[in-house]
Amino acid sequence: MLMIPGPTPVPEKALLELAKHPIGHRSDDFSKIMAEVTQNLKWLHQTQNDVLVLTSSGTGAMEAGIINFLSRGDRVLAGTNGKFGERWVEVAKAYGLEVETITADYGQPLDPEQFREKLEADTEKQIKAVILTHSETSTGVLNDLETINRHVKAHGEALIIVDAVTSLGAYNIPVDEWGLDVVGSGSQKGYMIPPGLGFVSVSAKAWEAYKTANLPRYYLDLGKYKKTADKNSNPFTPPVNLFFALQATLRMMQAEGLENIFARHQRLMNATRAAVKAMGLPLFAADECASPAITAVAPTQVEAEKVRSVMKKQFDIALAGGQDSLKGKIFRIGHLGFVSDRDVLCAIGALEATLQMLNVEGVTSGAGVAAAAEAISQ
Ligand SMILES: *Cc1c(COP(=O)(O)O)cnc(C)c1O
Repeated sequence: MLMIPGPTPVPEKALLELAKHPIGHRSDDFSKIMAEVTQNLKWLHQTQNDVLVLTSSGTGAMEAGIINFLSRGDRVLAGTNGKFGERWVEVAKAYGLEVETITADYGQPLDPEQFREKLEADTEKQIKAVILTHSETSTGVLNDLETINRHVKAHGEALIIVDAVTSLGAYNIPVDEWGLDVVGSGSQKGYMIPPGLGFVSVSAKAWEAYKTANLPRYYLDLGKYKKTADKNSNPFTPPVNLFFALQATLRMMQAEGLENIFARHQRLMNATRAAVKAMGLPLFAADECASPAITAVAPTQVEAEKVRSVMKKQFDIALAGGQDSLKGKIFRIGHLGFVSDRDVLCAIGALEATLQMLNVEGVTSGAGVAAAAEAISQ
């Protein structure tokens, strides 16, 4: 049972699609699938913008989202409060961009005011883009995209490039209403299919910037993807079976409805957090900035890795550990994508038993499950 923030669980409908024979990617049958998938991706992104599909992980989608719209030496402002925010700084630097960072400690959200100050001070409009990770998976923090984006809009010039890899399909991100220029995501997160596809939505303003952008690009040249997507095709051979699976899960998402999807993730988050609190374990991120996709727990009475190990061995439930400096300090419970109330109740019950098996003091038997049940019933 996968309770990690990607790859996430895959429904049987999608798994069965993966077992089919592939079809030709230049066939009419495949064009029909492309047409439906493209339309449904726009629905999911709440946008009329292009939503392009790459054969890559989420990082490839974000790299494409950065390099297609900027030129060597361009100034960009990047928010970093975890591993993924830091990754986009590395990508930007690798391509010769001049990166200024706004930083917050791990477990803390980025301060929108710092973005406002930097953007307002830039009267010569030299900042070409603001790069932001919405849900920082490494810490379980949800950054305030809406407010930060408002400051970017007030600046007028800079593009906003968003890593929505663990927020798209979990949290309301109205791309058109907010005017988000570039939004990157990946198939193994909220999309409920295995890893292998990256998604990038691109606004008209970003396409304007594309015309003069001069960073090197070939496989990740989004112009190629747009040109072919307009004809329901692809520049290169796509993973045909992942498209079959994506067609199936997008239909499932449409049947559930966006509001219900967001409400479910909110409920799973609330239940998980209430349970963790009731078990006396400290949460790594505050309630005000909690990610709907992932809850990071920073236990003090027991080693995080021991918890993960018993959860895996005894219950066959995979939790994620901490990355780099957070290794051994936190464990992370994913509740993103194809995850139900039942799954969370099960994981919490197993976690409670794990704590008892590890003789963790101060844990009231049943308190976690009771708190989760209470949160779910609200
Ligand atoms: C998973 C993830 C990514 C993409 O990682 P890949 O391994 O390249 O798919 C990017 N950003 C965030 C916040 C993520 O959780």
